[in-house]
Amino acid sequence: MKDQIKDKMGTTGLIFNEPLLWEKGSPGRTGISLPRRDVEKAPLDEKLVGDGPDFPDLSEPDVIRHFTKLSQWNFGVDSGMYPLGSCTMKYNPKTNERQAAIPGFAGAHPLLPESLSQGALTLMFDLQHFLGEITGLPAVTLQPAAGSHGELTGMLIFAAYHKNKGKPRSKVLIPDTAHGTNPASAALCGFKPVAVQSGPDGVLLPETVADLMDEETAGIMITNPNTLGLFESNIRQVADIVHAKGGLVYGDGANMNAIMGIVDVGDIGVDVLHLNLHKTFSTPHGGGGPGAGPVCVTEELEPFLPVPRVVKDGDRYRLDEDCPLSVGKVHAFHGNFGILVRAYSYILSLGRQLKQVSQYAVLNANYIKESLKGHYHLPYDRPCMHECVFTDKHQQEYHVATLDIAKRLMDHGFHPPTIYFPLVVSGAIMIEPTESESKETLDLFIEALKQIAEEARTCPECLHESPQFPKVRRLDETAAARHPCLQG
Ligand SMILES: *Cc1c(COP(=O)(O)O)cnc(C)c1O
Repeated sequence: MKDQIKDKMGTTGLIFNEPLLWEKGSPGRTGISLPRRDVEKAPLDEKLVGDGPDFPDLSEPDVIRHFTKLSQWNFGVDSGMYPLGSCTMKYNPKTNERQAAIPGFAGAHPLLPESLSQGALTLMFDLQHFLGEITGLPAVTLQPAAGSHGELTGMLIFAAYHKNKGKPRSKVLIPDTAHGTNPASAALCGFKPVAVQSGPDGVLLPETVADLMDEETAGIMITNPNTLGLFESNIRQVADIVHAKGGLVYGDGANMNAIMGIVDVGDIGVDVLHLNLHKTFSTPHGGGGPGAGPVCVTEELEPFLPVPRVVKDGDRYRLDEDCPLSVGKVHAFHGNFGILVRAYSYILSLGRQLKQVSQYAVLNANYIKESLKGHYHLPYDRPCMHECVFTDKHQQEYHVATLDIAKRLMDHGFHPPTIYFPLVVSGAIMIEPTESESKETLDLFIEALKQIAEEARTCPECLHESPQFPKVRRLDETAAARHPCLQG
């Protein structure tokens, strides 16, 4: 079995070992050559040098090889399929990087006066407009730095809206299929999150919402498509119920990649929505680096958006700070501008084809769902959106769990899917192929998962011992959490 996998997936080859930098080099070696000294030798000032770190003595090639080798241990969407449900690890076209590197954008200083920033302001104004068109919610801020930051901004808007009406409210309804950041964002703004149980089909039932909605409740936060990968088909009725009691509807649009160009979010009753540019609009997820989670709102809520707002006067663009009802600033300057350039480039390069992005994302997820249906337990057997959720229920009788399945996929050259999330599904395996994978890759992935299901029956211990081929085998996760060794 081992060799079969190796032949097929090309997981053989050179994988270099690499010690710590401190274990390399040799005393006196340096990365630079200084000219011969032509003055008297003088001791270093102890006060300036102190007991600084004991840096290793290395040459330039030592350092370059060290970090290049480490980079080859990495796995990214540029190296293979990365079907991490809920995260949308789609391929990011390289043209977006080129546009972001144009010196006029890359070198623009946020303190330049408006008169010297007309290009950057035009881009921001147009991007706001594009996102307004795509969502059907016309007023947009680009400031928030992530999806969850967009949620926080949205909750600040909820609070400001009710306060402005003269009646602050204390609770926010949150379905059990919402993303975990939703209750956290509501709580950070001082709201009490109230859980709403979804119905047997995995979507919200209007009557459940009607029972909970009252005039103490600021509104509801709906992840749509929800974390089961299902479209909230009753959202219009739910929105009517919430609006009738004076509440607002927040849409978690992190997964807009499933419905772009197909659903008008304003039309289905959403008042505030955030987008994840690093998911839907193909900007890098960034390993903790900058992201962007723009927030789109109805015209009625525009006065509450963060300042400064990018506005157009005649044929000039300027920043408007004069918004008395605004929730204030949520990010330094104007947000993560370099990320906005990438999203702008992505939208312009696709134009009307943005709709196809969603169609292919949904088609690919349904192809995987239908192909694996007999092999893995499918808790909600209905058409999915951009991702599908299986469980390990069929494999449990062989003592094989979701974790074993995920680890074995690494031997086949795939990044594992999201596991044990969403929490409403026990032993969840959440697969999001994205639109950027070809049918050949999807077929290889499906074949790998079928083989693993077969192996669960014939050789469960093989799965317990996986992964076999990666540089690092199975880790002791408890020990890693309890006794972190941060030195290597
Ligand atoms: C990813 C995601 C978020 C959080 O976005 P971050 O940018 O990671 O803060 C929120 N909601 C949903 C549905 C998501 O998929």
